[in-house]
Amino acid sequence: MVLIHSSKAAPLATLGTFTSRCGVGTPLNNVSKCRLRVRSVSTSVLAETKGAPNVTLPPLSALPTSMLLRSLLVAAITSKPYLLKPSLSILSRLSKSGNSLLLSVDRNIILHTILKWTFYKQFCAGENGRETQATVQMFKDLGFRGTLLTYAKETVFDHSTKSQQGLGVTTDQGKGQDGNGKRYCEHIEAWREGTVKTVDLLGEDDYLAMKLTGAGPAATEAFAAGELPPVQMIEALEEICQKCKDKGARILIDAESQHFQKGIARVTIDLMRKYNRDGYALVYNTYQAYLKSTPTTLATHLAAAGEEGFTLGLKLVRGAYMATDDRSLIHDTKQNTDDAYNSIAQGALRQELGEFGATNGRAFPSVNLFLASHNKESVMAAHHLHQQRLAAKLPTVPVGFAQLHGMSDDVSFSLLQLKGPDGSPQVYKCSTWGGMGECLAYLLRRAIENRDAVSRTQDEYRALKGEVGRRLKSLVTFST
Ligand SMILES: Cc1cc2nc3c(=O)[nH]c(=O)nc-3n(C[C@H](O)[C@H](O)[C@H](O)COP(=O)(O)OP(=O)(O)OC[C@H]3O[C@@H](n4cnc5c(N)ncnc54)[C@H](O)[C@@H]3O)c2cc1C
Repeated sequence: MVLIHSSKAAPLATLGTFTSRCGVGTPLNNVSKCRLRVRSVSTSVLAETKGAPNVTLPPLSALPTSMLLRSLLVAAITSKPYLLKPSLSILSRLSKSGNSLLLSVDRNIILHTILKWTFYKQFCAGENGRETQATVQMFKDLGFRGTLLTYAKETVFDHSTKSQQGLGVTTDQGKGQDGNGKRYCEHIEAWREGTVKTVDLLGEDDYLAMKLTGAGPAATEAFAAGELPPVQMIEALEEICQKCKDKGARILIDAESQHFQKGIARVTIDLMRKYNRDGYALVYNTYQAYLKSTPTTLATHLAAAGEEGFTLGLKLVRGAYMATDDRSLIHDTKQNTDDAYNSIAQGALRQELGEFGATNGRAFPSVNLFLASHNKESVMAAHHLHQQRLAAKLPTVPVGFAQLHGMSDDVSFSLLQLKGPDGSPQVYKCSTWGGMGECLAYLLRRAIENRDAVSRTQDEYRALKGEVGRRLKSLVTFST
């Protein structure tokens, strides 16, 4: 695999919503030479979201009744601090490894059943292939373009305690030798097997969402040092890329704790360099808008894509590791994160990010955008801007949208209601599959996210209650 090694510097450009300074092909681990600053985002497109087409039925009318009632139950818990706090403590206790039979979610049948029919089914796709494929098909039947499917194994690094939690954590390095005398790690092999099984569950137009820390200690050690993972994992990643390519699926590599992110981005860029050469992105890197460093990182990657001629897969999120990552690396306010998110999303859609695409700036490279967000303003603004540019035949980039399974259905179905004859917006649901024990860290993070987004959770609860009320009313009207 080739690494970027040139360090030519480009002049400062101040255009669009960024200012930037970054050398073409600046080494990925030497971002200090690049400067890119997010300015406040244009609000003209945000204001236009209010003019969205009027539709007669509310977006949640598309939700099957069983899902609606489960969503209402979960939202009732997550929107009330006095119910959410004890639920979080319980989930946190259950997610600890080495629990007794009584507290083991995999062995205690009563506990397993309660969790399965509430939190698990709300946020996860299935415990096995059959359940998962049924969920993937259900999303297609509901009008989604496809599913982003992820295998639950991961490792989270807590900056405050300097400790790791999750299934990648073990004192056993799992190292040995295979039959040919090559170094062999059983954790990487287990992760490869789980991921390949996930690829087998995907259909055309679905995405594999990958958490690289799930490969265990040998991988996380390398990522923490900003290095590439062991050859065994790189070979597994290449096998996975080829399999996805063969079946018409794509790959989103998740952004994780900052502790691991340099190494993760490094291997992801190498994969893009190799596989994103057919005019589209097979592989996407995830950019966390809440990080102050993201515009700089993105400028470096745009430069690499432009110079080396590959398509940059740009998945944009706000960032999910506020509770564990170093706070000083994250924007000081939510507004700053929102501005950063909208600025990058809209800049990419205008093909103008900092000096890339600006008059007298550098050419905008091939980019495929994926907006993963529950923020209605952000996604609606991006969709309307994309439509405007297509209608005006102005340059833009392909874009997909996704929300997590069990969250922000109002946003997902609002986007689906705008679907035009060209099939856009392309909306996806992102779900996780795996055994109950494997999914607990993921479930816990969803619960924490709901706690931290109180007003959105309460809005969701009100919308769900409104939809239940509407259905009851129409039932009564119909029967009288
Ligand atoms: C399909 C999908 C895939 C995802 N993949 C990833 C991934 O790979 N990696 C990852 O890290 N996350 C991922 N996320 C989660 C994402 O990063 C956000 O945590 C989550 O979506 C909430 O942000 P939001 O855009 O939906 O909007 P909102 O609810 O409007 O924003 C909440 C977010 O704003 C930020 N924020 C909140 N308060 C502050 C503050 N005081 N100062 C600064 N920033 C603040 C945080 O990022 C918080 O999560 C994914 C989300 C989705 C929907």
